[in-house]
Amino acid sequence: MRSVAAFAIPPPSAPTRSLLDAMAQHGDIARRYENIRSQDVERAYHQPAHDWDMSAPAPGFTPPITSLPDARNVFHEAFAGLGSEYQAEFDALLDPVNGRADILPGGAPSRYGGGFSVGSPGTTSILFFGRYDGTFKDLSVIAHEGGHAVHRQLMTENGVSPSYSNGPHFLFESFAEFNELVLADFMAEHADTAQLQRYYRERWISIKGLDAFYGAQDALLEQAIYDGVAAGTVRNADDLDRLTLKIDSQFSQFPASEPELRTRWAMVSLMYEDPLYDVNYVYGGLLALKYFDLYKTKPEWFVPRYIALLKNGFNQSPAELLHQFLAIDLSAALLNDDLALLNCRLDQLETSSNPK
Ligand SMILES: [Zn+2]
Repeated sequence: MRSVAAFAIPPPSAPTRSLLDAMAQHGDIARRYENIRSQDVERAYHQPAHDWDMSAPAPGFTPPITSLPDARNVFHEAFAGLGSEYQAEFDALLDPVNGRADILPGGAPSRYGGGFSVGSPGTTSILFFGRYDGTFKDLSVIAHEGGHAVHRQLMTENGVSPSYSNGPHFLFESFAEFNELVLADFMAEHADTAQLQRYYRERWISIKGLDAFYGAQDALLEQAIYDGVAAGTVRNADDLDRLTLKIDSQFSQFPASEPELRTRWAMVSLMYEDPLYDVNYVYGGLLALKYFDLYKTKPEWFVPRYIALLKNGFNQSPAELLHQFLAIDLSAALLNDDLALLNCRLDQLETSSNPK
């Protein structure tokens, strides 16, 4: 999606502004993960950890590589928990016989390296993945983009009218992000060693667990720039630097001590490509965590209702759909439930710290 006229962007609603403020107040959850990672890095490498060390692997640890045929088996097993219908749809998407997944191991010159799905009402959806190297991140992107493709396919097979097959971006993103949480959790639960299990638990937190908070960080920065320009307080690059340090310090310990990070405003690409889109990742990420919570705590209740929601299309408002199918309210309770889940997962990382 691309916004055509940046000057015609409406201001965010009051509930969205207050949700973003509430998430900034709970930005310490992202700092808590940084602390755990910093301690790991300092223990392993005997030097102070910096922002750019946060994804450093433990010494001697090589993250696993999954071949494409093995990846199909991984997805088959990982999505078994979502029921036979969803599992069969994901299998069918990746089955080479069906010609619906263009995934190229190693990529090719001049070929786009990322992934996306394509589908329209009434047609068979497809998945494109430009360069597959078998890393966990590759698997996670296929879970996400494949999730979009399967969602469209489920609506098509259910005969959803084209008028109701498009809905708010944050709901689409929530379904795709949930797949990434399911995959990372499955990998952690089935890891052979404690070290590998920790690796996947960290991926669970860092790839999608905290995504709503990183989305809130970007959305707050973007909104503060619009507000600052309108008020005449943002006039040049120094003002943007100052604003970035102020916002980012609510979510990270590093901006205060690492002035290199003040130019992050120049790297939030969606602010330029798709103005005010970032807020979709806030609601999408919060909902994905809530689905995951329900999936783990009462799967028999959650799974059939969730699949019914995917197949339903968008014939009502998002708040009504979420309430009717999954008894989820888009309110402060959602953030509180998610914080409890994240703190629980961070406790788990803290107590299993530094396995050998
Ligand atoms: Zn997506």
